[in-house]
Amino acid sequence: MNTWHGIPVSPGIAIGPALVLDTEGVRIPRRRVSDEMVPEELIRLQTALVAAATHARNRQSEVATKHGRNIGSIFGSHAVLLEDPTLRYDLETLIRSESYSAEYAVSRHLRAKAKALDAAAAIAGEWATRVKADIIDLEKQLLNLLLGERRESLDDITSPVIVIATDLTPSETAQLDTKMVHAFATESGGPTSHTAILAGALEIPAVVGIGRLLSEISGGDLLIVDGAQGVVIADPDSETLARYEALLQAETDEAGRYEAMLDVEPLTKDGVHIELLGNIEFPSEAIHCLERGAEGVGLYRTEFLYVNKSRAPTEEEHFLAYREVLNAFGPDRPVVIRTLDLGADKFSEATGILNEKNPFLGLRSVRLCLRNKPLFVTQLRAILRASAFGNLKIMFPMISTVLELRQCLSLLLEVQEDLDEAGIDYKRNVPIGTMIEVPSAALVAESLAKQVSFFSIGTNDLVQYVLAADRNNEHVASLYCPVDPAVLKLMKHITVAGQQAEVDITVCGEMSGEPVYAPLLVGLGIRSLSVTPRKIPEIKKVLRCFTVPEAERVASEALRMDTARDVLSYLREQLRRFLPDVAE
Ligand code: PEP
Ligand code: MG
Repeated sequence: MNTWHGIPVSPGIAIGPALVLDTEGVRIPRRRVSDEMVPEELIRLQTALVAAATHARNRQSEVATKHGRNIGSIFGSHAVLLEDPTLRYDLETLIRSESYSAEYAVSRHLRAKAKALDAAAAIAGEWATRVKADIIDLEKQLLNLLLGERRESLDDITSPVIVIATDLTPSETAQLDTKMVHAFATESGGPTSHTAILAGALEIPAVVGIGRLLSEISGGDLLIVDGAQGVVIADPDSETLARYEALLQAETDEAGRYEAMLDVEPLTKDGVHIELLGNIEFPSEAIHCLERGAEGVGLYRTEFLYVNKSRAPTEEEHFLAYREVLNAFGPDRPVVIRTLDLGADKFSEATGILNEKNPFLGLRSVRLCLRNKPLFVTQLRAILRASAFGNLKIMFPMISTVLELRQCLSLLLEVQEDLDEAGIDYKRNVPIGTMIEVPSAALVAESLAKQVSFFSIGTNDLVQYVLAADRNNEHVASLYCPVDPAVLKLMKHITVAGQQAEVDITVCGEMSGEPVYAPLLVGLGIRSLSVTPRKIPEIKKVLRCFTVPEAERVASEALRMDTARDVLSYLREQLRRFLPDVAE
């Protein structure tokens, strides 16, 4: 049994066989073959070994002619490894004795070798590291040859699995078949990456930022993923397996208990209403919100209309998606449609601006929309048309200056005039808000407040920009803390500015769905939270356990602290005090 710890990003327990994706997203399809197929697998193996060795020899002489013998010898050593009779013998033995497919035998055997070299690296140093890199390269070459036409993608999964990958892009994650993919675990990734957010939206348990994992697990190994604790276990012993099976059962029972919270009003212990809204990425999630008792949608991330699309969505496609959500929520419940937040890690291929050196500080989001007016106007027209069907609000993301906000507002006015001229129906006076997720916006919140009727604090980005800690990068995940004193000071500033100008304030970053932060946010003056739908019942339960004066005491105490660690341990202690049976 092996255990790894990573960053927990989507709660839930899953138990099932691993599906290992290589760095190019290709999976190794079959583990075993029938006995009659064994001779064929041996021939496939032999053919692949010969082809790979021949290729290596050819490369050796080509490279040697161009760049000299020393460099050519890199490929010579590949050929030597591939022609090694011991390698062939070991692989054939695995196929014969275990009825493994040729590709599974290659993957299993070479990964075990790579792992052994890792252990040797401490003593043998660079040599072992180099040979390990060669072995991984050879594995890839052999798999490419063996899989050839049989390459399968994430779309072809036909039985339940747990996906293990170096990383999954937001597009790949959005396309996961949730009936088949019961959890995923990745080597890289950070706590509020869009991949992590999608895992929450799709309600798939997930752990990211684990570090080296792929070389340790083979397709088909039995895995346990505990998305709440950030734990991945391979080949569990019977005691561990039984414990997790019981936890899985308890989780199913707990889901039933939360249904009882559906009609319970989100109130603090002293009866102050805290608006609880849902964050969605797809129209189909409107139902997830309603089932959990959301009072509306506080953040609709419309850029996910780009999933599965090689072109920009048409005005009609935008409109139909928005109308579907508005219809689900009826005439009164609010639906906040955020304009496209494309770029950085989200569908940047659709923006046509690839290879930005620093895309999170680049032409992202509203900056991109203001540069590409047809793209922006198409969406604004669709949003305004949809406004006739419910309580729609418009929100602009990534605003960093007052001028930028003014440009958005004046473009919106132009679009309204066009619709007026064309006699197209839309609602006048649609409330307009801005996200506060860039430090500059937080610092000029007083000025922004004059232009809008609501703020939505996007802590996912705010934290990364305040602390200069990439939200996707596991190496700086310990720095990335939403209750770092610097972030808290800015949040305090935003709430004071918002209250003075009488603009409504919602918090829609991932922190709003974490029970441990609920007293702090309420104590800072927040009266509206927008969270991943599955978090709604739990947050409702937590809110009912403290009064507003208690929350205010928590916030003012937290604001006096000097380090994120102190704030976090103080908030944990307070949560235990308010609600002894809630895990953080
Ligand atoms: C945020 O930054 O907090 C936010 C809600 O936006 P996103 O996660 O889509 O960047
Ligand atoms: Mg954001």
